[in-house]
Amino acid sequence: MIKTLLIANRGEIACRIIKTAQKMGIQTVAIYSDADEHAVHVRMADRAISIGAAEASASYLNSAAILEAARRSGVDAIHPGYGFLSENPDFAEACEKAGLRFIGPPANTIRQMGRKDSARQLMASADIPVVPGYDGQDQSDDCLSAEADKIGYPVLIKARSGGGGKGMRLVQEKADFKAQLEAARREATASFGDDKVILEKYITAPRHIEVQIFSDSFGNHLHLFERDCSLQRRYQKVIEEAPAPDMPEAVRTAMTKAAVMAAKSINYVGAGTIEFIADGKDGLREDGFWFMEMNTRLQVEHPVTEAVTGIDLVEWQLRIAAGEALPLKQDAITICGHAIEARLYAEDARHDFRPCPGPITTLLFAEDTNIRVDTGVESGGQVSRFYDPMIAKIISFGQSREEALSALQANLSRTHLLGTQSNLSFLARLCENEEVRAGKVDTHLIDAKLDDLSAEPQATHLALFVACLSLTNLTQTFAGWRHFDEGQTPFKLRGRDEVVYDCVFAVFTCSGKDNYRLYHGGKAIEVNSLRQDRRDERSIWHFVYENTPYRAESVRAGNDVSLSFKGQNWQFNALDFIPAEAKITSKNVLTAPMTATVTAINVENGEQVSEGQSLIRIEAMKMEQNLTAPQDGVVDDILVEAGQGVNEGDILLRFGKK
Ligand code: ADP
Ligand code: ADP
Ligand code: MG
Repeated sequence: MIKTLLIANRGEIACRIIKTAQKMGIQTVAIYSDADEHAVHVRMADRAISIGAAEASASYLNSAAILEAARRSGVDAIHPGYGFLSENPDFAEACEKAGLRFIGPPANTIRQMGRKDSARQLMASADIPVVPGYDGQDQSDDCLSAEADKIGYPVLIKARSGGGGKGMRLVQEKADFKAQLEAARREATASFGDDKVILEKYITAPRHIEVQIFSDSFGNHLHLFERDCSLQRRYQKVIEEAPAPDMPEAVRTAMTKAAVMAAKSINYVGAGTIEFIADGKDGLREDGFWFMEMNTRLQVEHPVTEAVTGIDLVEWQLRIAAGEALPLKQDAITICGHAIEARLYAEDARHDFRPCPGPITTLLFAEDTNIRVDTGVESGGQVSRFYDPMIAKIISFGQSREEALSALQANLSRTHLLGTQSNLSFLARLCENEEVRAGKVDTHLIDAKLDDLSAEPQATHLALFVACLSLTNLTQTFAGWRHFDEGQTPFKLRGRDEVVYDCVFAVFTCSGKDNYRLYHGGKAIEVNSLRQDRRDERSIWHFVYENTPYRAESVRAGNDVSLSFKGQNWQFNALDFIPAEAKITSKNVLTAPMTATVTAINVENGEQVSEGQSLIRIEAMKMEQNLTAPQDGVVDDILVEAGQGVNEGDILLRFGKK
């Protein structure tokens, strides 16, 4: 067995791998970048080694530094997690050369399956259905355009070296092909250093269904059933579940059989995922799914498979890497119940899911039975702008899909997250969506329902009341139930959607008892019999309104308050009384719209620019953005340089007079 394991990753997946290693009595070595010195995974491991600067290229992608850390700490194996070096064949090779076991398939397998063109060709030759498309060498515009005509529009252009949803462009009609091809090539070059593309027929009612497979080094292959990952945004998964809703047994048999055949055809070893795209137009069909790609690593969403099969996938990975045979035979593996995972991200659903890295002042999960939380972030921590902005994965399990979905929604509504923006309420609303509840999922659902999903409901008087209570500092006042000053406190509360609620909170005494009033929008409500309990950072409020008892939960961090009330999660920020004019941003400066890294400065001091012209490019994990001139003018003063990190609101450049 492996004695000491180095985890070449960070965040939740590093923590998750360390847990299993500890269970198996394996010593663990964490690595960390300058940005992660105080991260959870560093603390959890038996040893931690600093490997470089915050930029991934200097640390988590720096194979030389990682191999040196492995050598110094005397480990015998390296687990790459997902992302970073997990699908890098050169790294896998370098590990083997250094006498270290790489937890994954042989380097050659990674190389073959890592490129979408060669993977398609291999699968087609093994009689696995692939999406009709083009994966040839001729990359001339004319050839690609002719192939697209042959396939028939809509067509999807994909970077052959792509991953993580990058370098993909959907082309609806011929007229757009050239422009989209250019865009795909540009993004592919920037992200993967390879501008070659493949073309695929775009499946119109697409469902992403994937099969978890496992192989040992004795030529045994099996599957751990499927996961449905159709709820996506920007070609990236948001919610995943197992099993797939409305999966006919015959289709399941066909799909899992194809996946095992795929694994066998390439003599696979270890954990892998075969991703299929399925046509969900008239229900799933045996002839209605096609190979899309193979991920030769542990998948982000592996916990849903663990929940329904009871198998620890990381444990299996480690056993197989240590030379053991698959612990179970296919017929001993069954699905029990239903599991759903939600990915909690620091991102803004209302602005194209742009990443919102920043400090996390509060992060509290509700401990429910049948809920598993995988995270690598904690209160007082950070979502770094250098890496993927995922905060946690919340996984629910139920006897039925309905039960799992309700449990997930309930848990999300009682999760408190303050400090940076997140998709928390977006996820909760997704769980409540009628089509999602009915299992009618496809990859377009989120985009089609985006307005509904990202709209915050109007705050109720009672929700505002609890928010004011939390902000009123009743803690001292309540100690010993001392009476506190009568009077009125005005509040300006800003909701997640920037809507500002003006309210007045008042306390008065009636028959010797404290009563409370909240005025808002020309209406007042009166609340009595208030009681406060405290549990860690949470306040639990009990009160009576119109003879009905209520319970609410709140957490406060400075001017921010998170509350869970009647199955919903709210967040408010108490605004200081800044005069409205002070907030109008001047047109004479260009400010950073988010925490990001400046990637390019496209202008010079003194340069005459016209409205809409690109001035500066910035990048926050996975998203590049062009900042353009708000009006014609002259660039007066550039305050940043390429490579520099900036925070939301920082002034990047000043304009002079025209
Ligand atoms: P999964 O299919 O397991 O859900 P994702 O496509 O969401 O995987 O990617 C998993 C992680 O790997 C994410 O953190 C993503 O940012 C990262 N990732 C995936 N592909 C790449 C790539 N080619 N380059 C950099 N990061 C990637
Ligand atoms: P990546 O390597 O970036 O994960 P994939 O090939 O797995 O790229 O595709 C990512 C997502 O794009 C899929 O989950 C699916 O939603 C969508 N997609 C990919 N291929 C097709 C297709 N041929 N038709 C419709 N949607 C597709
Ligand atoms: Mg994929």
